[in-house]
Amino acid sequence: MTRLDGRTAIVTGGARGLGEAYVRALHAEGARVVIADLLDDAGAALAAELGADRARFEQLDVTDERGWTDIVARTLEAFGSVDVLINNAGIANAAPIEHFTLAKWDAVIAVNLTGTFLGCRAVVPPMKAAGRGSIVNVSSVEGLRGSERLHGYTASKFGVRGLTKSLAVELGPSGIRVNSVHPGLILTDMTTRIDPDALSIPLGRPALPEDVAGTVVFLASDESAYTTGAEFVVDGGMTTA
Ligand code: NAD
Repeated sequence: MTRLDGRTAIVTGGARGLGEAYVRALHAEGARVVIADLLDDAGAALAAELGADRARFEQLDVTDERGWTDIVARTLEAFGSVDVLINNAGIANAAPIEHFTLAKWDAVIAVNLTGTFLGCRAVVPPMKAAGRGSIVNVSSVEGLRGSERLHGYTASKFGVRGLTKSLAVELGPSGIRVNSVHPGLILTDMTTRIDPDALSIPLGRPALPEDVAGTVVFLASDESAYTTGAEFVVDGGMTTA
């Protein structure tokens, strides 16, 4: 018996990077996983590797309201429940404020914040019907502090953190838990231009995606049954230093 036997999890941005690590870890704990991403080649390859009995790829743009209705319906049809949602899909951009275009702002808010809102809203009906559910919203250490040039990213990640709190309050009585995860510097395609040596990280290294996956599995599982509205910082001590 593993921790997520019989549970179904949708992971947005699940085709690569942190999302892929969450998909693999949830699957290893017995969950059925739906990999929801724009990247159809990588997503389909990952689903094929994991096997059709407990893994599916669904192409999804998290900013597409209709896409969310469809993916929840198809997941219920294929696997019978939606027990876990990991809102992980995200993008980052940066510029000094005078050069921070409205297009940049709109893009990062749409994917990181509006996409998270749409995902949460879409899974609530089946979770309410089941009387249980766990939503994990991926914020960032940039949802806890300010950093130059990251204005849209920071605003979106603070927004994700705030949305998590209001949902936790409203959905607690329905048995649905909502928590946020705040990774520090994780080595993925998103962070190739960041020099880890320029940061002060008490644990002495940047993280790999697998370093965050354990926290996500914990929040998805009943081991965290009494935890909602909480913030899980996984940053090697970066924001403490
Ligand atoms: P990544 O760029 O490697 O992966 C992001 C994934 O999201 C990709 O598969 C991409 O196709 C998908 N995606 C992007 N826009 C999408 C959309 N509109 N609809 C569906 N899928 C979409 O990035 P990552 O480093 O793995 O980041 C994953 C999450 O973790 C993001 O929310 C990011 O903000 C957050 N995060 C990352 C770090 C880090 O250091 N890498 C730190 C803190 C938080």
